[in-house]
Amino acid sequence: MRIAVVRELRDDEQRVALVPDLVGRLTALGYEVVVETGAGLEAQHSDEEYVAAGALIADDPHTDADLVLSVQPLERHEARRLRPGTTTVGFLPVDAVPEVVETLATGGVRSFAMERVPRISRAQTMDALSSQALVSGYRCAIVAAGMLRRFFPLNMTAAGTVPPAEVLVLGAGVAGLQAIATARRLGAVVKAYDVRAAAAEEIRSVGAQAIELDLPTLEGSGGYAREMGEERARLQQELLTPYVAAADALITTAALPGRRAPLLVSRAMVEQMRPGSVVVDLAADTGGNVEGSVAGDVVRIGQAQVWGGRNVASQLPGPASRLYAQNVVNLVALMTRDGVLDPDFDDEIVAASCVTGAPGAAGEGSGA
Ligand code: NAD
Repeated sequence: MRIAVVRELRDDEQRVALVPDLVGRLTALGYEVVVETGAGLEAQHSDEEYVAAGALIADDPHTDADLVLSVQPLERHEARRLRPGTTTVGFLPVDAVPEVVETLATGGVRSFAMERVPRISRAQTMDALSSQALVSGYRCAIVAAGMLRRFFPLNMTAAGTVPPAEVLVLGAGVAGLQAIATARRLGAVVKAYDVRAAAAEEIRSVGAQAIELDLPTLEGSGGYAREMGEERARLQQELLTPYVAAADALITTAALPGRRAPLLVSRAMVEQMRPGSVVVDLAADTGGNVEGSVAGDVVRIGQAQVWGGRNVASQLPGPASRLYAQNVVNLVALMTRDGVLDPDFDDEIVAASCVTGAPGAAGEGSGA
């Protein structure tokens, strides 16, 4: 069976769905791997590296592929060119690209969405949300350190002592914890807050001070946070205001699965920050944790520079692609039996991640 690795078409996408190091795992499973010309270049992998790893290179590998691997959803015109019976694996946000999902469904294409892989222990090696959040969290800390016009660490020198930067992280899931750990490694003093009960211990375990507000925790299902009510949001903002005002750098990473990001920091809160302060809003792409942040841009609010994240994991395409490719190859391996792609729909990982073409689905698949 033939696997195609496509070149990403979105202008801000620099990742690739398979790295040369992992070609051998797929060929060992019995697949032939064909990589679209130049697919890995933005992630620093040349066509020659793929060839040396055992792949073929082609200008248009989609049309005769059995399995198509991508990071972003295929464009509609690409989806139209797939043969019935083809399978795709990649991110596939159903609400964001309904027309692509419809094209896949009506074209007889079976599709699997990486963001739908359930977050159970057995699926950890396939959890692309976590692997990409880790990259984003690291990137946020580095952006904050780069924009801030002062040291992160304490420096004691013959000329005197320079105090460390104070970093505040709001939202301490996978990305937030990685942002904390990275800022700590650079020597900053870090405080963090999250609405989940388990978060305080996790924050302390990566070396930051956990802010405990006199508010109830907000646990939702599956270990995720719940949405804040209006009064809760107002109180949380009020209690966090002095922490925001004292921070040299504020990094926000709060998210709610499948929903708009919660607004945690008002414009008025940012206006209280000192001159030269920096705000990094990872959630700018999904509505923003910080009022006024703009995805893909730096804006000034009060005396602070506010950086809005846009497809942040893609900004470190090397490690992001490597980790994503591991996740994808592990999912493909799970669905491969005796050298052919043969997904077992009794397996909850397979069933949960399938969007179109599940057995028994009429036209559209289980999740569409
Ligand atoms: P996420 O990206 O959905 O959200 C990021 C963080 O924002 C979360 O920690 C959330 O609690 C926080 N948040 C939401 N609303 C907030 C608010 N109003 N104020 C402050 N913070 C707010 O989350 P995630 O990083 O994907 O992880 C969510 C949970 O899933 C975590 O408990 C994580 O440890 C867990 N998880 C489990 C597995 C697994 O078992 N395989 C894998 C990954 C993550």
